[in-house]
Parts: sequence; structure tokens; C-alpha cells
Amino acid sequence: MPKKTNEHAFELVRKHCGDYVRENEPLGPRTTWRIGGPAKLFAEPRTLLELSELCKILQSENLDAFFLGFGSNILVSDDGAQGIVIHPRGDFSKIEFENGEIVAGPSARLLDLTVFAANHGLSGLEQLSGIPGSVGGGLYMNAGAFRSTISDKLARLELLKPNGRITVLRRREINFGYRKAPELREGIILRSFYRLDSMPAAPIWAAMRETWKLRRAKQPLDVPSAGSIFKRPKGDFSGRLIEAVQAKGLRIGDATVSEKHANFFINAGHATAGDMAALIRKVRTLVFEKFDVLLEPEVKPVGFKEDPFEIEG
Ligand SMILES: Cc1cc2nc3c(=O)[nH]c(=O)nc-3n(C[C@H](O)[C@H](O)[C@H](O)COP(=O)(O)OP(=O)(O)OC[C@H]3O[C@@H](n4cnc5c(N)ncnc54)[C@H](O)[C@@H]3O)c2cc1C
Repeated sequence: MPKKTNEHAFELVRKHCGDYVRENEPLGPRTTWRIGGPAKLFAEPRTLLELSELCKILQSENLDAFFLGFGSNILVSDDGAQGIVIHPRGDFSKIEFENGEIVAGPSARLLDLTVFAANHGLSGLEQLSGIPGSVGGGLYMNAGAFRSTISDKLARLELLKPNGRITVLRRREINFGYRKAPELREGIILRSFYRLDSMPAAPIWAAMRETWKLRRAKQPLDVPSAGSIFKRPKGDFSGRLIEAVQAKGLRIGDATVSEKHANFFINAGHATAGDMAALIRKVRTLVFEKFDVLLEPEVKPVGFKEDPFEIEG
């Protein structure tokens, strides 16, 4: 049987998912770095039914898909993404209170989740308050700050598997680690459920304000970035190692190592993905040569044919 082409699969998606699929959608504006080319196809399903229909086509046509949250932890290639990029919205952005638990859709803002909890006098998510991602992206990355992670208060979540089935995973069934959750790689994260501790709202708000203040003091929040570029190496800090190789302020094109926080790389104007990837490789190389430590990128590359962060040698 002749192999189906992407075009054939794209045609099916266009036909069946007409009103929530667009072609050649620029992805740069959908990332916090403001970098990257277009998505060949971009789908924004609004309901579980629409998402399930779309997934059926993806599976039958064996089409590559990327699930986009708020683009705060990705570097999109200058050529964009060749497959389909899926960004659920509508029903997927809801946050509700159900049977004593908070239930959040994957496309809800992490910030809104923490504010919702504070407004209900529920404590446990305050430290996550300044992370600019979605709930789905937060779970995929096991996002965290100030010694707290999103998985700490998670009770369970729903995962839409490639075969179209929804599986419920309890927290203990997911091997959450430092910025990783391996079981969540195979599927789309749907609703997640949190059990929090009752507390007066005032101290919860005070704790959230404190995290915002600390972030403003330490991080370059007024320029496009993707947060920390590298994970923390064992027993050390990426920022310290980057400073120690005199890389603060280093620049390739408009991609620059922040003067304020060395583990933040910023887009100082019109940086391309090529510039940013070259800067990441350069800094990795400098640190490796001086300290024999290979920093592991936290940021995920999207749409590259090869690993753009791999260093030579
Ligand atoms: C200024 C700044 C500060 C930051 N501070 C922190 C911090 O303190 N702590 C921290 O951990 N991170 C931090 N980050 C990084 C980032 O915000 C987090 O990693 C965040 O959780 C990513 O969420 P997102 O929605 O933007 O995901 P995206 O960047 O869109 O995607 C990240 C990954 O998640 C996957 N994904 C997204 N949604 C789903 C879904 N529904 N189902 C399956 N997979 C999905 C994507 O496919 C991708 O692989 C910061 C970033 C910035 C710009």
C-alpha cells in the first residue's frame, strides 16, 4: 500500500476540523521568547469531543503532533513545526471546585490556579504563582519554585492516550522528578485534581506576593525569555557556573545571556532560533571545558531536525 503523505493527513484534518484549524500559524508570538517559524497546521479544539476527533485522525494517519501550552519553555525552530500543533482552549481552560478538590483544565493559567486556590482559602500552590505557564505544561515539566512543585498537591490527573482512551493516573503512579514526569510523555494531559489545605486567605496572599517580589528582584521579567535555560546540576547552580566562565552579557545576534540572572537567556530584539541555539551551545561548551560539567537544557526544542543544543566533541 502506498505510504500516506502528510498532505493526505492534513487534508483530512482540514476537512473534519475546519473551523478550529488554521494553516501557517506563526508560533513566535505564542512563545515567551517571541521566536520561531509557523506551524504548518495549528488546531485549537474547544471541547473533548473536538480533541478526540482530531486525535483519531492523528492516530489513523500516523501524524506527528506537538501539544502547545503557553510556550514558556520551548524553542521553536526558525522553520517552524512541520506536523500539527495542538493548543486546546475553551473547556480546557476551566478551573472549578468539585467535591472538596480543585479541578483545573490543561490550558488554565498556573497563575489563575493559584489565585483560585487563594480566593477559596486553600493553601499549597502559592510558590508556583509566578510561573508563566499553563497547568498542562506545568505538569509535563513538573514545574516548581522555592522548594515546591505542582505535583506536591496533585491528587490525580486524566491523560488522553494516543488510542483515544482517557486514563486516570494517581499521583503515586507518576514518577515525578526534577522537571520531569515520564508517564506524561505519552498522551495529552487533560484535567488535574488538587487537594489543598484550608487556611485564611490573608497569609496565602502574603506568601504569593512574596514570591512575586523575589522573582522581580532576581529575574529579568521585562524582556522575552524562557525562564531557566539549564537544569540545576548536582550540588551546584547553572547560574554560578555560567557566571564563572564570564558568559554574562555574551551575545550571538540578538540572543543574550542576561546580566541580571546568568541562567536566563533573553531575546534582546530580533533573535532567531538559530541565534538562541548557538548561544546555548556556546555556553554549554564554555562550562564543559572549564568544569567538566555538561549542563542539561530545561528548554525543549520544537521543529528541529537534530538536537540544536548538542555540543561538539
Ligand atoms: C520568566 C519565566 C520564569 C519561569 N520560572 C519558572 C520556575 O520558576 N519554575 C519552573 O519550573 N519553570 C519556570 N519557567 C518555565 C515554564 O514557565 C514552565 O516550564 C511551564 O510549566 C511551561 O508551561 P507552558 O504551558 O508554557 O508549556 P510549553 O512551553 O508550551 O510546553 C512545555 C512542554 O509541555 C508539553 N505540554 C504542554 N501542555 C501539554 C498537555 N496538555 N499535554 C501534554 N503535554 C503538554 C509541551 O508539549 C512541551 O513539551 C519560567 C519561564 C519563564 C518565561
